[in-house]
Amino acid sequence: MGDPKGFMKFDRRLEKQERVEDRIKHNKEITLPLTNFEYGQQASRCMSCGVPTCHAGCPTGDLIPTWMELVEVNRWKDAYKILNSTNNFPEFTGRLCHAPCEEACVLGINENPVSIQMLEKQVVERAFSEGWVVPDPPLIRTGKSVAVIGSGPSGLSVAQQLNRAGHNVTVFERADRIGGLLRYGIPNHRLEKWVLDRRLQIMEKEGITFFVNANVGENIDIKKLEKYHATCVCVGSTVARDLPIPGRDLEGIHFLLDYLSQQNKIDMGDDLNKMGIEHISAKNKNVIIISGHPHGWLGVAHRQGCKSLTNFDLLPEPSMGRPCHQPWPFWPERLRTSSDTDEGIDLQFSIILKQFIGRKGKVTKVQTVNIIFEQSYSGRPPYMKEVEGSEKEWAADMVILGLGYMGPETHGILQKLSLELSPRTNVETDSKYMTSSEGVFAAGDARRGQSQIVWAISDGRQVANSIDTYLMGKSLLPVKMEGDLPIIK
Ligand SMILES: Cc1cc2nc3c(=O)[nH]c(=O)nc-3n(C[C@H](O)[C@H](O)[C@H](O)COP(=O)(O)OP(=O)(O)OC[C@H]3O[C@@H](n4cnc5c(N)ncnc54)[C@H](O)[C@@H]3O)c2cc1C
Repeated sequence: MGDPKGFMKFDRRLEKQERVEDRIKHNKEITLPLTNFEYGQQASRCMSCGVPTCHAGCPTGDLIPTWMELVEVNRWKDAYKILNSTNNFPEFTGRLCHAPCEEACVLGINENPVSIQMLEKQVVERAFSEGWVVPDPPLIRTGKSVAVIGSGPSGLSVAQQLNRAGHNVTVFERADRIGGLLRYGIPNHRLEKWVLDRRLQIMEKEGITFFVNANVGENIDIKKLEKYHATCVCVGSTVARDLPIPGRDLEGIHFLLDYLSQQNKIDMGDDLNKMGIEHISAKNKNVIIISGHPHGWLGVAHRQGCKSLTNFDLLPEPSMGRPCHQPWPFWPERLRTSSDTDEGIDLQFSIILKQFIGRKGKVTKVQTVNIIFEQSYSGRPPYMKEVEGSEKEWAADMVILGLGYMGPETHGILQKLSLELSPRTNVETDSKYMTSSEGVFAAGDARRGQSQIVWAISDGRQVANSIDTYLMGKSLLPVKMEGDLPIIK
């Protein structure tokens, strides 16, 4: 038993970050570790609540108070075992999760919550550095085979779970490297790619087969899937929302992922010139980003040497604290900043673009207008109204469209497998994650729509149990029981 009064003695602390002027000179991770003693103090802030709402807050059902206490008493290996029992890849969530567990932490009612995410990263990094994370191949193979299409966090977690159950798993990835958005969406300064490669090496040693440049439904014949006993479609949500306003065809307007994937390629040593790709760079440019989530990728423009960085968000500026209509332990829509926003950005809210303006075919400015949301008392959602006379022009040499994703691509694999879609054009599944096609399952963003890494991992674990049950009649693979505790989305 750790210190029962830790939460009264110590304030929440996070790892320090490199100074802005230093960190924007490189594309590596920017946090500086605390001491062992300080990590222990932070863990002692966990109150070991009788009803740990953090469990329910986490989509994977992370058993936080249990491993927190083990950290406090210096039993890091046991802490890792507990953490890993509900999450295949804590090294990704420990760095990138939006941490719904922290929003659901009981301490968060009137104090700063426990630094769960920071400690999660510390536990898993210690496990790797001590050599506790080793390949764990199954002792017996079932003779059943499963094809996983897509290698993002959902594909990777279903692959690892099913391999653990003894099935032969093959992952097909259309990109030239494994990892989905972990590889080509998340910038290096948020997730250095050796973290991903380190995990993939372990998965290969466990017996999972990976194929890259394997676009199922295109250069891999869909009929090839027939030789597998089950298939899991984890193709992500990749149809980017566009902004079809006047001037959209001007040069210099890019979708977010086109921009980020390039920088990730460069960071992994690719030569864009040799690949015949024109480099999209923010160097010396006034960059305008249109996004509702100015998060962990903004720093790429600073690292490329942009002149200015401005983000336009349609919605009003959220409050700093919890809005009263989203009380604890619900996920609050409050202003979220990150290390990237701290590096310098002009955040503009309640604003929309009217047109892109250009010269000689290239974007040079954008025109905006401010908006307000008028409340309707009839029960209709509030509607948007332009503020008269608020039109404004902004210098823009480069515009990034980060307007979200509308669902998976509906042609190609989904069409060829004749999969039914939900009203929101995601892959429709039953409660066991099976699609309209017998033996074909779906997980991750392709099924639930644009979401988060922790949900993709959770989906992968859930669907693995369903596939295992489908193949073997029963499954011992762990799942989070939605009936046990209220799931807070
Ligand atoms: C820029 C950006 C930043 C983000 N940052 C965060 C963050 O900080 N924290 C967080 O929690 N979430 C973040 N997210 C969301 C998170 O990355 C996703 O929710 C998560 O990656 C979804 O995982 P997935 O496995 O379902 O799909 P994906 O990661 O999208 O992977 C799908 C994979 O399927 C492959 N594929 C598609 N079609 C085929 C085919 N026919 N054949 C073979 N392969 C195919 C794709 O190439 C891709 O590799 C971010 C998203 C974006 C776009």
